[in-house]
Amino acid sequence: MTSISKGEIIEALSLEGEEQETLHDEACNLRDETVSNNLYFRGLIETSNICVNDCLYCGIRTSNKKIKHFELTSEEIMHCVDLAAERSLSAVVLQSGERRGPRYADDMAGVVSHIKKAHPAVSMTLSFGELSRDQYQKLYEAGAERYLLRIETSDEKHYRRLHPEEMSFKNRLQCLENLREIGYQIGSGVMINSPFQTLENLADDILFLKNLDIDMCGMGPYIPHEESPLAHLPYAPDKALSLGLNMIALLRTAMPDINIAATTALETLSLHGKELGLLAGANVIMPQFSPPEKRGDYMLYDNKPVAFENYDDLINKLVEAGISCGMTPSLKDPGHSLHFLKRKNYDNTH
Ligand code: SAH
Repeated sequence: MTSISKGEIIEALSLEGEEQETLHDEACNLRDETVSNNLYFRGLIETSNICVNDCLYCGIRTSNKKIKHFELTSEEIMHCVDLAAERSLSAVVLQSGERRGPRYADDMAGVVSHIKKAHPAVSMTLSFGELSRDQYQKLYEAGAERYLLRIETSDEKHYRRLHPEEMSFKNRLQCLENLREIGYQIGSGVMINSPFQTLENLADDILFLKNLDIDMCGMGPYIPHEESPLAHLPYAPDKALSLGLNMIALLRTAMPDINIAATTALETLSLHGKELGLLAGANVIMPQFSPPEKRGDYMLYDNKPVAFENYDDLINKLVEAGISCGMTPSLKDPGHSLHFLKRKNYDNTH
């Protein structure tokens, strides 16, 4: 089934009810047979909400003057990583708004190498947006192994309608290529059910991600943010959730051996969003380890969950949720992408 066609994807995207359940069950079976039923955890740490970009959908866009800006210090970031490592997590994601100057990336390279020294077993994913090749290289050499840069949409014309003039689709692609050449495990993804998007776009997105040969995927439904220029457009949350889940199942079908996250946006649309994501074929969850008092300032979209829960309780609950979805929670396993391990092996032997 891995050579799923565009027509089949378009048709499957709108499935509901029993047929949708079958699609999701098949994706889970494929996941279990290919990458196992292990559930991997990544502690998500939002390191700064300062962003130079003005993406038309995003709550931390530079034109949103209501934001209270923050930038975690090196010590604060390390504290968040300590909290995750104390609970046996062996992977973290550091994410921030985008900055162009050399300073932030340099500072972050320092933080990454500190983390690597203190927690050699913890794998780091970075998600700092479009940086220069040198900056990516520096961060890689400092010890980061994975990078997540969503293409947001694979259709350049659609991209143009979601982003301001000065942002470049081609540069984003170039960044993904640079990351790959440097040796990162690369992650990408799209916003699902975003304004002006068609089912054909989403089918193309799946084929695009396959063609890009990604190792991991973080994609989630678009959710409006009240301070963004697109907030006035009509929005159907049920459709967003259903499409979000079907995209996970279809990407799993197209790329059985990659890591796919059940993202936070699913939780905004449903109390059991994470579980639904796992039941559709995802194998990664990203519990929040950002400082509780800063979470409300990293509002990418309205109603993003910010509630703080005692970390032990949070992890216990997620372990139980994983088990209830038929998975084996594997906290201590860094959960490298099987796809990446295979292609690395291939690169080394050819
Ligand atoms: N600066 C980094 C991280 C951006 S925030 C980068 O450019 O990669 C991480 C992701 O949040 C974005 O890639 C986008 O897909 C998602 N996001 C932003 N606004 C959103 C919204 N309104 N609804 C859903 N997801 C959103």
